[in-house]
Amino acid sequence: MSLVMIIEDEEAIATLLCYNLEKEGYKVSVVNNGLNALNEVERQRPSVIILDWMLPEISGIEICKLIRSKPDIKTIPIIMLTAKTQEEDKIKGLTSGADDYVTKPFSIPELMARVKTNMRRAPLFEEKEKYLIFEDITIDLVEKKVKRGNTYIHLSPTEFRLLKMLVKDPGKVFSREVLLKSVWGENIFVESRTVDVHIRRLRSSLNKYGPDYIRTVRANGYAIDRNTNNNTPDEDEN
Ligand code: CA
Repeated sequence: MSLVMIIEDEEAIATLLCYNLEKEGYKVSVVNNGLNALNEVERQRPSVIILDWMLPEISGIEICKLIRSKPDIKTIPIIMLTAKTQEEDKIKGLTSGADDYVTKPFSIPELMARVKTNMRRAPLFEEKEKYLIFEDITIDLVEKKVKRGNTYIHLSPTEFRLLKMLVKDPGKVFSREVLLKSVWGENIFVESRTVDVHIRRLRSSLNKYGPDYIRTVRANGYAIDRNTNNNTPDEDEN
């Protein structure tokens, strides 16, 4: 499903956009501050971004420039949303890399039409990487299914995201903090022990059908790799 990301600090506008975009059949994600914006774009890979110009801490213009400087996300269409109506501001917005420009107050049908037009130019992240494979573990990113050998394994959405994160970068040790931020999101409060609980569940689901490739790195975090010899059992954590 096509994901539209709204980067907007005004809750009323974000809610209004969210409601209308969902009605059009899009998946919607809202980021309410500029500081998290770049991370969230990299993590969620939206098809289109609606970006507010006036944001606290980092302006929409700055975010736009940052997105355009990152090779893996720079082609995502950006619709800039702003109350500024002066012509020179419009030019500034477009030269910073925005694809489109809508001034507040905007008409919902018009904005929906702009989203639709820009959606046609969205990069196809999913097609580029439909599968992630590590040894006998296959993750189908589109269908959101996991197979070990020929057996499908049922995982919760959280465990699925955890496994995806580890398999994307085999051998790399992810700290609990990094996993929390990427899997649960920046604004959600969860204790770091929650990561251990979900890793334990992930292990028990995966290891029914093969060796334990998840490595616990004491006091550090988790990785996935072929060296399963020096594994610390989960029970030793805390
Ligand atoms: Ca704003």
